[in-house]
Amino acid sequence: MSRAATAIIHLDAIRQNYRLAKNLGHNRGTLAVVKANAYGHGAVQVAQALEHEADAFAVACIEEAIELRTAGIQKPILLLEGFFTPDELPIIADMDFWCALHCREQVEILSGTTLSRPLHAWLKLDSGMHRLGFNAAELTSLFPRLQKLPQIAEMTLMTHLACADEPSSPMNAQQITAARQLAATLQLPISIANSAAVLAHPASHGDWQRPGIMLYGASPFAMSEPLSQPLQTTMTLQSEVIAIHDLEPGDSVGYGATWVCDKPMRIGTVAMGYADGYPRHAGNGTPVWVDSKPSQLVGRVSMDMLTVDLTDRPDVGLGAKVELWGENLNAGIVAEHAGTIPYTLFTGITQRVKKIYA
Ligand SMILES: *Cc1c(COP(=O)(O)O)cnc(C)c1O
Repeated sequence: MSRAATAIIHLDAIRQNYRLAKNLGHNRGTLAVVKANAYGHGAVQVAQALEHEADAFAVACIEEAIELRTAGIQKPILLLEGFFTPDELPIIADMDFWCALHCREQVEILSGTTLSRPLHAWLKLDSGMHRLGFNAAELTSLFPRLQKLPQIAEMTLMTHLACADEPSSPMNAQQITAARQLAATLQLPISIANSAAVLAHPASHGDWQRPGIMLYGASPFAMSEPLSQPLQTTMTLQSEVIAIHDLEPGDSVGYGATWVCDKPMRIGTVAMGYADGYPRHAGNGTPVWVDSKPSQLVGRVSMDMLTVDLTDRPDVGLGAKVELWGENLNAGIVAEHAGTIPYTLFTGITQRVKKIYA
């Protein structure tokens, strides 16, 4: 007796996707990126499911890392952006987190702090994305000082590709070459690859790779790109038909009356809306599966409900199961209909949606 909006999380599929990433990288170090609540899948549950095979985990901030440690995760956890304020440093040392260093301010704070143990620092190279990191010249001149810092035990060089999801972009080779050259000069282990690079750019497979979205079964590429076909679906977002209406030509559906029937139509109302994380921008024609067969959205998505075309589906009744994305319907296709990417769909799933781990 409750609202049926549910996300079924397939932990075994996440493990399979992790193994695929690990194999593609020739079994070298593979960090499972579980930031943003494991892309909406539940960070603790995902990390626990991967704890025996993941080499390490990566998160965006210390709160996410503490949540995992507190839940008993013992593998290394990398803070992808390092620390934001100095008070994080003692915790980073005590809880044994790996820490990105991306700017001089962080280095100054680190060098002025006494730690309970020295850190594994991940030096962030800005190889062309211009979002975070030192450029190669800065890192080269800073490096001798970093080597002498008693606060640093170990270092890895990390960079991030701007266009990895566009396999033909010349920027990939430029960034990969720049990062490899610097890693060779400084004699550091290297980490370049996100999911798109793991799948599309073998030259980026360094000592560590950092797959995120591919662990969650979605493609980092446009849906026409076949490289992500072997990925397994990890999230099924589902709900139920809670009302059905037979409408006449001229009748409208939903807010703004943006859909007007041009023939007699049977419309189903589904308990799923943008307050659950379903994208409001998904337009008319966005695919939806009803009772294991394809249907489509008509009318605007509202906060708690959306409406689907059941005109050719006289078999469908109240309580029929609706899959918004999942095994039958790739989240990337829904994302394309909403003008977005599956990352935002997964991370947008709200508290109100029950999660069931299968
Ligand atoms: C989020 C993130 C990743 C994972 O990216 P995906 O595209 O999800 O594979 C890797 N590296 C860094 C630095 C990130 O911030």
